[in-house]
Amino acid sequence: MKLLLIGSGGREHSLAWALAKSPRLTKLYAAPGNAGIAQVAGLCDLDVSNHQAVIDFCRAKGIDLVVVGPEAPLVAGLVDDLEAAGLKAFGPSRAAAQLEGSKAFTKGVCDEAGIPTAGYGRFDTRDAALAYVREKGAPIVVKADGLAAGKGVVVAMTLQEAEDAVTACFEGSFGEAGAEVVIEEFLQGEEASFFVLSDGTHALPLATAQDHKRAFDGDEGPNTGGMGAYSPAPVLTDPLIADVMRTIIEPTIETLAGRGTPFKGVLYAGLMMTEDGPKLIEYNTRFGDPECQVLMMRLKSDLLDLLLASVEGTLATATAQWRDDTAVTVVMAANGYPGSYQKGTEIRGLDPLSSDRLEVFHAGTKREGGQLLANGGRVLNVTALGSSVLEAQRAAYDAISKIDWPEGFSRSDIGWRAIERENNS
Ligand code: AMP
Repeated sequence: MKLLLIGSGGREHSLAWALAKSPRLTKLYAAPGNAGIAQVAGLCDLDVSNHQAVIDFCRAKGIDLVVVGPEAPLVAGLVDDLEAAGLKAFGPSRAAAQLEGSKAFTKGVCDEAGIPTAGYGRFDTRDAALAYVREKGAPIVVKADGLAAGKGVVVAMTLQEAEDAVTACFEGSFGEAGAEVVIEEFLQGEEASFFVLSDGTHALPLATAQDHKRAFDGDEGPNTGGMGAYSPAPVLTDPLIADVMRTIIEPTIETLAGRGTPFKGVLYAGLMMTEDGPKLIEYNTRFGDPECQVLMMRLKSDLLDLLLASVEGTLATATAQWRDDTAVTVVMAANGYPGSYQKGTEIRGLDPLSSDRLEVFHAGTKREGGQLLANGGRVLNVTALGSSVLEAQRAAYDAISKIDWPEGFSRSDIGWRAIERENNS
């Protein structure tokens, strides 16, 4: 099969790396890709927001399946347009991607299906939203409704912060995404992520993960796209996973199918383990980044087979096999990230690191004149397997110590919570 992978981050490098292992793959293209993806795929200079250009490329190259990595093309309806042109594409339709594209949409699905989630109100005027936060008091959570590149959520510990967040949304801080605001009850507990694949009617559990969003050690500092992750998430035990499938995932899949907009693709549930059991914080409609990297490191099954089963509606007879090991990924970012940072600095020392149990996925790199250069905020994802979280963590940091890139940094404590749990058990 010939495949086209859409995206350019560490998530897409790990997907490309896993797809390249499939005996069914004859040729992989990536648009736009990065220097790591180029090790296993042909990079193409395609404007992905131009759906007709993607369709023309697929026809010219005889592409059998398009795999969409990031959320923006899904919400923009790329999968709908490819399917309308008679091409196969992995990922949800525009309507089903509303589970990520609109927080109010997801809350509506939760109401309809009785899915456990934070209590909420939705507002399209500032005054009504302010009245609601004043009535409820802090702590409280203010969310721009639409896609805001992970920046549209304020967990307000004081009423003043909540009021400022409401005002910022209605003054256009998040553009169109903030035209409507969802205000939620503050949930307490440990967070974890759960991934399933769906073909529209059946959901196949994949795996669990936890990530670290803050820039600095001890989960301090500004929010980022994610500084590291590990899988599995020890907090999500098998009985809890069964509970999440029954109370959250399956009702969601049934509700979307019942509405005539079945969900196909990866459904990524952000969960809070509260005293009353797991509650849904949010859905994403694609693999997480960097969670995908740890999932791909543990996946034993053929990824291409699984993605095809989602597209073709045959997941009920599919299985996904995982290594029992823990995978840890540590993000190396350019100094200054998530604020301003330099691009174009040289990275050396990666080549000897790769092994059966260690992979350096590229998140933002390019190759120029034989040199490997940083080309983004998050640049590398050093990903290792271990028989424990501690062992995987040590292997990842050992590899990082051999990477020669003075202009980059990483956190030194990825996985700390799970390691504490290991120490206590
Ligand atoms: P979201 O984009 O909805 O995942 O929100 C980003 C982050 O905000 C989550 O990963 C949580 O850490 C936090 N968060 C979101 N909603 C809540 C909530 N209702 N209670 C507590 N924390 C929340």
